[in-house]
Amino acid sequence: MSEADDPLVNGKAPSTEGRDPAYFSYYAMLQHQVVFKPSRTVSSNELKKTPGGLQNMLQDTVRTSTYRSAILLNGPLCFHDKLILDVGAGSGILSYFAVQAGAQKVYAVEASQMAEKMRKLVESANTESEALAKNTFLKDKIEVIQAKIEDPNLPIPQVDTIISEPIGVLLIHERMLESYLYARDTYLKPGGTLFPSTGSIFLAPFSDIALWTETMGKARFWEQSSFYGVDLSALYPDAKDEMFGMPVVGCFDPRTLIAQANPGGYVVDFYTITMEELQDMTIPFIWQASYTGIVHGIAGWFDLHFSPPPSVPSGNTIAMSTGPAAERTHWQQVRFLLKEPLAVNAGQTIQGWMRCVVNEMRSYTIEAEIMVGEGQLTNPTIPLTSIYNLDFNRRRGKWRLHEQTYNYNYYPQSDNLFRPEYNCLYEPEHPIDTTVVVENNFVDDNNQFII
Ligand code: SAH
Repeated sequence: MSEADDPLVNGKAPSTEGRDPAYFSYYAMLQHQVVFKPSRTVSSNELKKTPGGLQNMLQDTVRTSTYRSAILLNGPLCFHDKLILDVGAGSGILSYFAVQAGAQKVYAVEASQMAEKMRKLVESANTESEALAKNTFLKDKIEVIQAKIEDPNLPIPQVDTIISEPIGVLLIHERMLESYLYARDTYLKPGGTLFPSTGSIFLAPFSDIALWTETMGKARFWEQSSFYGVDLSALYPDAKDEMFGMPVVGCFDPRTLIAQANPGGYVVDFYTITMEELQDMTIPFIWQASYTGIVHGIAGWFDLHFSPPPSVPSGNTIAMSTGPAAERTHWQQVRFLLKEPLAVNAGQTIQGWMRCVVNEMRSYTIEAEIMVGEGQLTNPTIPLTSIYNLDFNRRRGKWRLHEQTYNYNYYPQSDNLFRPEYNCLYEPEHPIDTTVVVENNFVDDNNQFII
């Protein structure tokens, strides 16, 4: 990452406050708490007006029902008669689940005007006339607080459990996890429960010639030497950087992955991770190619886990995946295209890292290095310009996670015939010997980077 571009200024993370008005006015609308169904006719510009990308939160049944199961199945241990804090309560849905699980009191903190809507719903339980009252189970259970969780002197006691849905594309977009950690450090009793408890980021190389060619086509517009008599080609390199610097959000066929993601992924433990660690993360990866083919980029997704802390040993762990092989969620997956694709042979090792550093757009600036076969990876802090082009088997790329573009070309069909060669992926004639353990010498036992 070049110095001028490094979003961490003097080692300090940029503030998200400049983005607050746009961010919270988006979430103030009921439609954005419920559904935003993309169709092929929606332009990506229109989609880009939404700071969180696509939001069909309540109607994302995978998401909403996973939270409900996690809360109800751990009701007796983590919610019954307990004090609960809901960070970014939105419509209040997680707070209502907490009451259903027996909570004594829920503090529902929401910064946007959606707090008013939540108050309406909660107060309909408190109306005088019992005949008119709705949701009577909520009566006197929920304290709606319209504020940013970071605001000082909020009327919130130390709580037993914090619930929140602070998750964006690739887990980290929107930087709301920082608010979640702030709540943990400020309001959670020692040994209290955090739902969700961990997020695991998965990365894998993919091949998608159509996506790469389409992206290249957008850049090539600027290659023209006589557009109405004007030579645009001086902007071609910038256009290429811009088009390939946009992460592609959307689902894809898991069979276009050239190698499997590292099992377990890169674990972000919400109980223990520090704010600083969250703001600058380097995710190492090492893969073994299952096919001979062309790597067009790196695909990413995440899992969420809901596990009570060690002090509650008999709890139930609930998990959900947003991966390409799992049921679709509103987060979908994200793909980072390489400007120059990389050829691999089946059985070869592919290794590298992805560094994610917070930026002022409520998001992350991402840089990655990917290398096939033998060689030494460069350190993530070394700027790309000084090493690029030295090796034919190495690529670097840089993306801004907030500059998302959308791709909805893939619709899962049960009857579609898949052959790897349709995607220019070629199976090895002889099975790959996976008993040959690939030496992974750049992470320690805790998955920390050590070059
Ligand atoms: N919990 C709801 C809404 C999740 S969306 C649900 O699961 O459906 C995230 C919500 O958090 C948005 O409504 C947003 O306005 C709110 N939010 C984001 N950052 C916040 C902060 N720092 N303090 C309070 N609310 C915040």
